[in-house]
Amino acid sequence: MNIEPTRPTIKNPPEQFAGDVWVDMIALPHEEDQRMTVATVRFAPSARTAWHSHARGQYLHVTQGVARFGHRDGTVIEVHAGQTLYTPPGEDHWHAAAPGSFMEHLAMLEAGDDPATTTVWKEHITDDEYDGRPGA
Ligand code: MN
Repeated sequence: MNIEPTRPTIKNPPEQFAGDVWVDMIALPHEEDQRMTVATVRFAPSARTAWHSHARGQYLHVTQGVARFGHRDGTVIEVHAGQTLYTPPGEDHWHAAAPGSFMEHLAMLEAGDDPATTTVWKEHITDDEYDGRPGA
């Protein structure tokens, strides 16, 4: 056994994140048959991801602040510290901090059979989607 190396905090890229979002990796696979990845992700107020999906789904456990998670049907779910959101495999969604609130969550997911499908990135969300106003 070992203490895992401390990795530097990474600023997430603007192609996939709007606003300031930082990630600290906690767990990455060591062995060929391991799939689990866990990270702490911190969002500045109103910062958000682009639309995306995960081959094997994802668990998002909010540890601080107020989060928003959006679905293609226009549903926006507000999630508070201590609650866990689950997104099924292949389902488009986005993650965000609510306005006026930093948000931190643990992101837990498994690699896809094709690693390129672990997370499939799509277009940025609109302000209307962020505010739960589909088609506005
Ligand atoms: Mn996700």
